[in-house]
Amino acid sequence: MTDQGRNLHHVVIIGAGFGGLEATYRLAGAPVRITLIDRRNHHLFQPLLYQVATASLATSEIAWPIRSLMRDRPEVTTLFANVRGVDAAGRRVLLEDGTDVTYDTLVLATGARHG
Ligand SMILES: Cc1cc2nc3c(=O)[nH]c(=O)nc-3n(C[C@H](O)[C@H](O)[C@H](O)COP(=O)(O)OP(=O)(O)OC[C@H]3O[C@@H](n4cnc5c(N)ncnc54)[C@H](O)[C@@H]3O)c2cc1C
Repeated sequence: MTDQGRNLHHVVIIGAGFGGLEATYRLAGAPVRITLIDRRNHHLFQPLLYQVATASLATSEIAWPIRSLMRDRPEVTTLFANVRGVDAAGRRVLLEDGTDVTYDTLVLATGARHG
């Protein structure tokens, strides 16, 4: 990364589902650098899971590598990592491997779970 790039406002987006990808797309052209973190290396198009379950689609038709979705976005760094927490006071995203990623703005797009 260039020194100029390093000085840009750093947006960290956790989750490359619909929410995280939309946020990344909407930031195209903004004077920011983006780190997009997901514990999966692919985006999963969940609405078509039924079609995979019933064998009318192949898995590869509903899952796309995140890195290839961002191939035309040099300001976006993709990170394959599991987030274990956020240090809001220190503006750091804490990763499972013990490292961290600092941010200026954090977007949490980790989806929802059904109880
Ligand atoms: C079977 C099925 C059918 C559906 N059909 C429809 C439909 O027809 N129409 C419709 O509008 N909606 C539908 N939905 C709902 C829709 O898919 C969800 O609302 C949408 O995917 C939510 O997007 P999201 O970005 O909030 O979360 P998600 O798509 O769940 O993305 C969250 C991402 O965050 C990542 N993540 C989570 N925790 C961490 C962590 N700790 N560290 C790193 N990464 C993490 C996950 O790996 C994931 O990639 C359907 C859902 C299902 C399951």
